[in-house]
Formats: sequence, C-alpha cells, structure tokens
Amino acid sequence: MRAGAPWVFSNELTMSAAARALAPGSLVQLEGDDGKALGLGTFNPNSLIAVRLFDCAVDEKIDETFLAGRLARALALRESLYDRPFYRLIHAEADGLPGLVIDRYGDVCVVQIATAGMERLLEPLLAALRATVRPESIMLRADMPARALEGLDSYVRTIDGETPHRVAVEENGARYFADPAAGQKTGWYYDQRDNRAFVAELARARTMLDAFCHSGGFAIAAARAGAADVTGIDSSAPALALAQDAAAANGVQARCRFLHADVFEEFERLGAKNERFDVVAADPPPFVRARKDLEPGAKAYRKLARLATMVTAKNGIVFLASCSHNMPAERFASECAIGIQRTGRKARLIRAAGAAPDHPVHPMLPETAYLKALVYALD
Ligand code: SAH
Repeated sequence: MRAGAPWVFSNELTMSAAARALAPGSLVQLEGDDGKALGLGTFNPNSLIAVRLFDCAVDEKIDETFLAGRLARALALRESLYDRPFYRLIHAEADGLPGLVIDRYGDVCVVQIATAGMERLLEPLLAALRATVRPESIMLRADMPARALEGLDSYVRTIDGETPHRVAVEENGARYFADPAAGQKTGWYYDQRDNRAFVAELARARTMLDAFCHSGGFAIAAARAGAADVTGIDSSAPALALAQDAAAANGVQARCRFLHADVFEEFERLGAKNERFDVVAADPPPFVRARKDLEPGAKAYRKLARLATMVTAKNGIVFLASCSHNMPAERFASECAIGIQRTGRKARLIRAAGAAPDHPVHPMLPETAYLKALVYALD
C-alpha cells in the first residue's frame, strides 16, 4: 500500500471470511497486521481496487455531515477560483470523495457515481448536496463504463427538478451549451478551460482548426478572441448542434463552421488538398482506455501529432492533448515529438499543462493527473 494513497488493491489485503462476505460498497475500517486502525473507506470484494479510503480520521463517521463537509470544502475552493457557478465541483479522490464526480452548471448539478462505495452513500450524499449547493435540479449519470468493474449497472436518472436537456455553460466569458442528460460524460469538459483560453489568444486574426471540437470548446473561444476563420470537426452530430448554437449565442457564427466528419480522414483529405490552418487543436477521446491499450494508443497519438502538424501552416501553432490516465506524460510528450518530427518540421514546446484547477490532483495518486496538454510553435 502506498502511504497516503487512497487506494488499496485486493492483493494487498488479507481478507477474513467476514470481510469477504460484506456487500460491495460497505464502509470498512482498514487495519494493519498489528490490528492498528489505518483508515476508513469503502470496500468492494469484486474490484481490483478493493478499498477506497476517505483520507479522514479513523474515528470519523461517514454520514451526511461528513459528506457536507467535503462538499463545502470543495465549493469554497471553486468559489475562490471562479466568479460564476460553472465548474467541476467534486473531482473524486482529489476532493476526498472517491468514486464521485459532480459538475455544476449554475443551478444544475450532474452527479457521476463510479463505485459501489459511493453508490451506497447516495442518499446522504444527495441530502448533503441539497444542503450545501441548493441546486434546482440534480441529474444522476450512472452510465460510465468503469461501473462494470465495480459490478454496477448503468442508468441515468433525474433526481430533483426537470430533466435538464440543455444547460448554458459560462466559461472564460463565453457562452456554450451542454446536454447533461444525454451528452458525453456530464455534457461538458471543464478540464480544458485554461488551455482553451491559452490557445484562443494565439488564434487572434489567424485561421483555426478545432479537431474533436465536441460542443465548440476551443473553436468558440478562438472565434471570440478574434480568430479570422474557425473550423470545428467532430463525429457527434448532437455535440456539433450545440457548437453551432454556441457560435450564434456568441455572435461569431459568421466566422465558424462545423463539419460532421472523422478527424483522421479529414486530416488526410485536408493534407492532400494542401489546406493549412495557423492554429490546430487536437483534443481527442482517450486512445488508451486500459493499460493493455498502451502501445496501439501511443501509436494513435503519434499519428495524430503527425497529421495535425501536417495541416498546420508555416509558423503555426499545434495543440495536442491526451485525457488517458493510462498514458504517462513523458510517453505522450515523446510520441508527440516523434509525430511532429516525422513531418520534417521544427517545433518548440511553449506550454505543457494539465487540467484546470477545478480538477485537482491527489498528491499521492498520480493517476488523477490524467490530462496532458502540449502546445508547440512550429517553424
Ligand atoms: N475538445 C473538446 C472535447 C473533445 S472530447 C472540448 O474542448 O470540449 C472528444 C470528442 O471527439 C468527442 O466530442 C467525440 O464525439 C469526438 N470524436 C471521437 N472520435 C472521433 C473521430 N474519429 N473523429 C471526429 N471526432 C471524434
């Protein structure tokens, strides 16, 4: 067990018959071989990560008051970071609540539960959320693939209020739209907030290509910053419809167009037609979903870096990101470097960043630093 880390793997535990018989998600006290209490957590005998610790005193009670305390701490941090109530409120282990993600869209909170432990705490959690944040509507997105590893089924449910099919998102002064009920994840990717602002500034008066644009995160930010012409590409028609509406809401629709296409195919096509863009952002879905996908995933990142560079104009900027927590930062950087190099272009790395601060990293759990974002200035 890594000291201070909130995960204990099943092969690190000696389980009594009584422990083995516990229902998945039960609250447990973890003890050392000497019987000394090490921490409180939730236990799932069916999961590789058998115990998830709460990072609290061993005599604490895990109840509504405890959960409300964690929510209040997380809320205070976000309120110190942002003027407006649009952010990731809870980022799982890093906010002391393993298995829980909450994204906030003003009066709407979208809750993602990934573990049996958090699922069992759902009622006190919802009570704590109502008391702390007072949202008008709470949406439960319990449909992440990771739930299968915990033996959980998949469902989506509106808990309080109306089902929010479309919410407005405010970020960096821009207005976007998200669909928390049916969109990807909770509907919006807050993690790229600072990277969007950085790339947008570089796109002023230049042409920009936002590959994997989803609902226009980078594209609209660039257009608002004064980009001359912005193209977004995504394979999801519903996500693109929201991007189009965001362009109109920000008054930049005349300088934005969105293409429903496969990015790899479109890159090849643009490359062959000799079309180039001054700024290219490529923020793809995770290519390394499981550790066994590392090699094919690494190849895909390398290829993407090569193709994105190929369609970047002389003296242009290329932004490359990976949200795979199974892709180590050094490996991602080296795949990007090789991909760029294969085009014969020279590049300078001008920014290496992670997720925005509403996605904190647990200091003892490097897995929580999942987002890697690199910005290169090309010759
Ligand atoms: N850049 C976005 C987030 C991207 S998430 C933002 O700032 O919000 C990844 C996106 O890639 C999703 O919207 C998904 O629909 C899209 N996608 C996945 N595979 C794709 C492919 N092969 N071609 C185009 N889009 C793809």
